[in-house]
Amino acid sequence: MTRPLPSAVVSDLSEIVGRRHVITDPDRLLVYESDGLTAYRIPPRAVVLPASTEEISAVVEVLHRKGVAVIPRGAGTGLSGGALSTPGGVIVGMARMNRILTIDPENRIARAQPGVINAHLTEATSPYGLYYPPDPSSQSACTLGGNVAENSGGPHCLKYGVTARYVTGLTVVLAGGRVMQLGGVGRDPYTTLDLVGLFVGSEGCFGIATEIEIRLLPITEGVRTLLGIFESVESAGRAVTKIIASGLMPAAVEIVDGPTIQAVEASVFAAGYPLEAGAALVIEFDGTEAGLDLDADRAEGYCLEEGAIEVQRATDPEHRTKLWRARKKAFGAMGRIAPDLLVQDATVPRTKLPEVLAGIDDIGSRYGLKIANVFHAGDGNLHPNILFDRQNQKELELVERASKEIMQLCVDAGGTITGEHGVGLDKREYMTLVYGPAELQAMAAAKQVFDPDSLFNPGKVLPEVEGAELGVAMKASTVS
Ligand SMILES: Cc1cc2nc3c(=O)[nH]c(=O)nc-3n(C[C@H](O)[C@H](O)[C@H](O)COP(=O)(O)OP(=O)(O)OC[C@H]3O[C@@H](n4cnc5c(N)ncnc54)[C@H](O)[C@@H]3O)c2cc1C
Repeated sequence: MTRPLPSAVVSDLSEIVGRRHVITDPDRLLVYESDGLTAYRIPPRAVVLPASTEEISAVVEVLHRKGVAVIPRGAGTGLSGGALSTPGGVIVGMARMNRILTIDPENRIARAQPGVINAHLTEATSPYGLYYPPDPSSQSACTLGGNVAENSGGPHCLKYGVTARYVTGLTVVLAGGRVMQLGGVGRDPYTTLDLVGLFVGSEGCFGIATEIEIRLLPITEGVRTLLGIFESVESAGRAVTKIIASGLMPAAVEIVDGPTIQAVEASVFAAGYPLEAGAALVIEFDGTEAGLDLDADRAEGYCLEEGAIEVQRATDPEHRTKLWRARKKAFGAMGRIAPDLLVQDATVPRTKLPEVLAGIDDIGSRYGLKIANVFHAGDGNLHPNILFDRQNQKELELVERASKEIMQLCVDAGGTITGEHGVGLDKREYMTLVYGPAELQAMAAAKQVFDPDSLFNPGKVLPEVEGAELGVAMKASTVS
């Protein structure tokens, strides 16, 4: 049972944001007890919903003065437990920080509050012929603040790069409520010490991003979307290697495996993927019209060389949306197979995809677990989705063991433990698979610069390592 926040603290917070924006009712707190990593649940002591940088600063000041840990939260779609409360912590939610502040088409820049939903930014900028490229599959729900914290990717990040490439400035609230401006218009963050770059990907462990300045790109002139159908995920993986090695530069290359296809086709997101397929490959090219058909023809040829049963092309924008929806909503469709889903995330060199996928299949068989794969194949970013029932404690243990083996398999293949979902709570113990004490110490030191008392999202990202003296980075909340 989480102990309630002292009434004096509730009253101080209420003065800043209004009583109805301080949630303390245990029933209402249940909504915040987990994020997309549903295997872990910890209700926070309270949730505070500020509406401006000033309010966030004042809220953090009150909580840190009392030694209360602060857990920033966007939409809670994170898959590594990053927005999960730590024992005794208070969640500061961004739900009311949801305004796009400026769109500057001449400089191709927008400034937004962190609670703006990713897809809403492109909706708002498209009348100016501009869009925001990083497109997590959760983009209809996840927030820009969450994207900044996780340095999120998405299908089109193969060609366009991840969040870090687009964030040019940040207003942040740091320990004790200190407000700091990092980068921003006219201050190139890349020519001096890149504090924007350091903050992006810090998983809510450095502070809270309260305003985000973002670079936009012109909407591309043309697009071609292909769907390759394969007998096996291994042959689809080989086609990916061939396409990329050929020098083609697709905007996106995504794989959906057989079990996922069956789940999607049985759901409202059905897009006509053949049920008997072992894998489907969604390939997209964009850019100026000239040359797009040629690129699509070449990619189709490589698919056929690697044994594609058929290759379709989207015939109109509606068909394209349908093909993409099946891919982007695949995680949701898996709810048809099992009540719980652990979406794993790791990267491997593209050339290792076929052997790693076979290895994952083997791990699933040995543990008797269903694993469905849907992932950003073009950049070797795997998402093995382990299906389970969290009520079954034994199965939960098997899921943990299988996850660890999958991580080890990816690291042994020359990859790493996360491509885009972050480390959070879920991957902390895997950090030592890729980093030694010296690297972990450097990360802990960076955290200490921003958050000396470890009161932002403690207990996340950095593992407990004997002898590494990660010290404050790991300290849990000390609130009474
Ligand atoms: C169906 C589905 C598909 C997904 N597909 C993708 C994908 O393609 N690519 C991808 O990268 N991810 C994907 N994700 C993961 C997730 O959506 C992203 O990590 C996303 O960026 C999280 O945003 P959020 O607003 O939900 O953040 P939350 O889950 O609320 O928080 C995530 C982390 O960010 C921190 N945080 C939140 N807001 C702030 C802030 N303002 N300042 C500082 N820290 C903050 C939190 O403390 C936490 O550590 C997917 C998730 C789901 C459920």
